[in-house]
Amino acid sequence: MLKIFILGFIAISVLVLWNYAGRSPKNILLTKNNMPDSTKNKESGMNDKIFKTEDEWKKELSPEQYKILREKGTERAFTGKYWNNFELGTYVCAGCGTELFNSDTKFESSCGWPSYFEPIDSSRIIYREDKSFGMTRTEVICAKCGGHLGHVFEDGPPPTGLRYCINSGSMKFIPKEK
Ligand code: FE
Repeated sequence: MLKIFILGFIAISVLVLWNYAGRSPKNILLTKNNMPDSTKNKESGMNDKIFKTEDEWKKELSPEQYKILREKGTERAFTGKYWNNFELGTYVCAGCGTELFNSDTKFESSCGWPSYFEPIDSSRIIYREDKSFGMTRTEVICAKCGGHLGHVFEDGPPPTGLRYCINSGSMKFIPKEK
């Protein structure tokens, strides 16, 4: 009886440790291949990419949008338009209008940026390793216009466990029609 109890205890400990290891930040890049597949872009019609010169982008975007989308800038936490917006609607790319995130995947995160657990369609996103600022992160880019949106981390809520941490300034919010 005692043996069964000890074996059961060991089995549960192993499962708990396994789960914890899978969630640790170190694993973000190790499991990058588990990220939604962005190689399907061609099949889903997302191969109509937009190319513009930097002068053209500068004319179209506000200085803040340009800084984020074209120069990989980051707005300061808790200063963007949408970190605290929980209206129903759709978030589109400020560069090209692609529908990126739905309000029903947005969650309250203490990080100060709009956070979502998944994009509307993984083919609309490109993932790239970002080693800037002495960190290793996974950058999130609009597949259509190449604009920098933010980063994705593996500390999000179910069902995906992902947190797409996106700059408000890289998006526009389209409220749902009532
Ligand atoms: Fe875009």
